[in-house]
Amino acid sequence: MWGSAGFIVGVVLGSLVKALADRSLGMKSFWGRSYCPSCKAGLRWYDLFPIFSYIFLNGKCRYCKKKIPLEYPITEIILGILIAYLFTQTQFSLISIPDLILKIFFIVILVVLFITDFKKMFIPDRIVIPAIIISLISLVAITVYKIGYLYFYLSQSPIGRKLLPPYSDYFQRHALAAAEPLYLGILMGLLIGGFFLSLIIITRGKGMGGGDVKLGAFIGLMLGFPQALFAVVLSFLTGAIFSIILIIAGKKHFGQTIPFGPFLVLGSLIMLFWGNQIMDWYLKLGV
Ligand SMILES: [Zn+2]
Repeated sequence: MWGSAGFIVGVVLGSLVKALADRSLGMKSFWGRSYCPSCKAGLRWYDLFPIFSYIFLNGKCRYCKKKIPLEYPITEIILGILIAYLFTQTQFSLISIPDLILKIFFIVILVVLFITDFKKMFIPDRIVIPAIIISLISLVAITVYKIGYLYFYLSQSPIGRKLLPPYSDYFQRHALAAAEPLYLGILMGLLIGGFFLSLIIITRGKGMGGGDVKLGAFIGLMLGFPQALFAVVLSFLTGAIFSIILIIAGKKHFGQTIPFGPFLVLGSLIMLFWGNQIMDWYLKLGV
């Protein structure tokens, strides 16, 4: 039930993701109506149903009959699956909904940057910089909301009031815990962004770019500690394995650059969805 609702939300966001990625790559404005990339005919509302329009139009533009690239329905389906999975993992409550919205935002931005970096090795500033600012503001707002909610909840009952200062430090301890994603996120964002920046300076810009620094800072902010560190390790591992496969297959030679952003995105999505399981497993290794 929540899964299907998530899928519908996801496919709608999928067409937004594709539009943001295309417009970033084409240096076009984010505003204005969607149009066919071949004949530039403005699309009508009935052309814009994710997946369904593609199926009903038989994969062709209504106006010029050119094939609509498969990237469109594929992006929509991928977003549909990701958001459906996110919904099935979520316990819906007053306190979890702001977190859920922020996670959806995180996924949308990650997939946009995956597409732009994968296709053109480009991480657009006009996506990643507003994303960092919005997530920082959201984390502050969510923290204030959670602490305010806790205070309000406790102040409603005589027993709750006993847990408020000056009677007890219960409220302070829980408020500090609620602020953890905010301060650990800022710390991780600075750490990962700074680490990537130092890699650029040491390697004189080979293999990593300024876009990766900003994407790293965004991921650190959103995933926090220790998930963000795991995401970075995972992306270095998958990136290395993928490079070796490409070299063995003769598609690339040693030292040739491949975009790092897609691996950062994959590592982050893995940690977003399975971070707890991976950390449990890691702790059981006893290291
Ligand atoms: Zn057309």
